[in-house]
Amino acid sequence: MSDRYAIFGNPIAHSKSPRIHALFAAQTGQMLTYEAILAPLDGFAASVAAFRREGGRGANVTVPFKEQACALSDRLSARAEAAGAVNTLTFEADAVLGDNTDGVGLVNDLAGNLGLDLAGRRILLMGAGGAARGVLLPLLEKAPAELFIVNRTAAKAEELASHFSGPGFRFAASGLQGGGYEALAGRRFDLVINATAASLAGDLPPLPAAVFAAGALAYDMMYGTDTPFLAFARGAGARCADGLCMLVEQAAEAFFLWRGVRPQTAPVIALLRAA
Ligand code: NDP
Repeated sequence: MSDRYAIFGNPIAHSKSPRIHALFAAQTGQMLTYEAILAPLDGFAASVAAFRREGGRGANVTVPFKEQACALSDRLSARAEAAGAVNTLTFEADAVLGDNTDGVGLVNDLAGNLGLDLAGRRILLMGAGGAARGVLLPLLEKAPAELFIVNRTAAKAEELASHFSGPGFRFAASGLQGGGYEALAGRRFDLVINATAASLAGDLPPLPAAVFAAGALAYDMMYGTDTPFLAFARGAGARCADGLCMLVEQAAEAFFLWRGVRPQTAPVIALLRAA
């Protein structure tokens, strides 16, 4: 008998996760199935409960349900608690465990696939929504020299920076700051991460071209298309990467949580890129 896993989202038809997990299962010889489930916008918790009753062992969660997944978890990992969002659920006999693998997915891509040592680097994180929250703690744990959160609604970036500099976190307020795009004048960063939803609408946030330091890496969490942000960064001389490898790396971490086996990501990334 195969163990059942799924991804819940709305919309969900576009999801690459079933393919990624099928490739991981084949590679590691794990007996499992992984399906995409469209949860009604007002029926996420009921969909998850039904899947669990039918014997589901775990699930991934994507837009727009990550906060609801956090709320329905009985126990949260430290990174899920910090993010306030859950993308990986593990169903135990009497409890639902909530975790967030987005941040480790990003950090593994940056360090492993892109060869970037984050220690001592100046990082600009664009956006203050779920994706930005999810990656903040794993990024800060790599000890960058600076992490500036910039957001269209500046107050949300300031709030996020102040939250992660507060009690319970060991990051100095001096290195972690937040603000609006106007605060970027005259500042340079080694890594600029686009965690906004601007690319989805074909928009480019108002970044100064001089924001990229020499040799900087521009990273767009969106994947599957050349975004205005990456085109702009390339024009400014930055190295560019999209979020496809992050997607595969966060899936690998979820697979490891569920199965205790760490799949190799490189062959899966190569297959997805070729497709
Ligand atoms: P949210 O809706 O939670 O947050 C959106 C953020 O984008 C907000 O900070 C918002 O600013 C900002 N924003 C939206 N439009 C614009 C614009 N035109 N100009 C400037 N800022 C803008 O979305 P998520 O955080 O959940 O997702 C963000 C992106 O990350 C999506 O593209 C998603 O696909 C991607 N992602 C990729 C993953 C991967 O594995 N590769 C994993 C998770 C997410 P404001 O606060 O002012 O509204």
